[in-house]
Amino acid sequence: MTDKYAVIGNPIAHSKSPLIHHMFAAQTGQDISYEAILAPLDGFAATVERLRAEGYKGCNVTVPFKFEAFHLATSVEPRAKIAKAVNTLKFANNEIIGDNTDGIGLTDDLQFNLEIDLKNKRVLLVGAGGAASGVVYSLASLSARVTVVNRNIEKAQLLATPRLPFPANNAKKHDSNRIDALGYADLADQQFDIIINATSAGLMDEMPDIPKTIFAPGALAYDMMYGRDTPFMKFAREHGAAVVSDGLGMLVEQAAESFRIWRNVRPDTRPVLKKLRAELPIA
Ligand code: NDP
Repeated sequence: MTDKYAVIGNPIAHSKSPLIHHMFAAQTGQDISYEAILAPLDGFAATVERLRAEGYKGCNVTVPFKFEAFHLATSVEPRAKIAKAVNTLKFANNEIIGDNTDGIGLTDDLQFNLEIDLKNKRVLLVGAGGAASGVVYSLASLSARVTVVNRNIEKAQLLATPRLPFPANNAKKHDSNRIDALGYADLADQQFDIIINATSAGLMDEMPDIPKTIFAPGALAYDMMYGRDTPFMKFAREHGAAVVSDGLGMLVEQAAESFRIWRNVRPDTRPVLKKLRAELPIA
């Protein structure tokens, strides 16, 4: 019998996750279905309950439900506990097991697809929502010097607050001393080697209020959004970023890790990313 999976979000129409998981399933010979489900903003828990009742085996969770998913899970894996955000739910017996694959998705894309060494790099993480929560400790665990900036500074400060060390990816421990929090007004005169847009501003064709001078020589500008040339990416190109990337590689890498959690087999991401990139070229 085909095992059913889904991604829940709002909005969700743009999602490439069904396509990616179907490619993973074909590549690994797994018999699964995977669909995108729009949940009302006040209807995430009810949507999860419906899926469980209908026999789904798990789901991904995207904007804006990652914090709610964290609280809904009956048990949470260490990296999701650190992030306090969940993007992967596995339904097993009466359990809802929460995990977070965004961190490893981003760092795998940076290290293996974009071939960036994160050690001692000055990283500006723009945004402090579910996606930023998922990646901040993975970046720090690879010895990047992370600064979080957000409109709501308290959320940025919360991400910079030391949490339990844990062995993420191949790192020995995360270094919480390397995480700082700033407001946008504090960014004048600062430069970073890697600037990651983890806000949802691009969904509204907007961009965060970062200064033109933020890009250090050779800087990478990375937008977690994918499938469109965002205002942030255009801004980065115009103001000196050496490399500009969208979040397609992260999407594929985090999906591969979710797939592994559900199916116990890690797909090869390279052909999937290559195929998607041909459909969604970066300008
Ligand atoms: P959340 O809703 O949890 O958080 C949104 C964040 O964006 C908050 O920090 C918010 O700031 C900020 N924000 C929204 N609009 C603006 C704006 N106009 N200017 C400045 N800041 C703004 O969303 P997520 O964290 O879950 O997702 C963020 C983005 O990352 C989405 O676009 C999502 O698609 C993408 N993503 C991509 C992934 C991938 O695999 N490529 C994986 C995960 C996410 P404030 O708190 O001040 O309101």
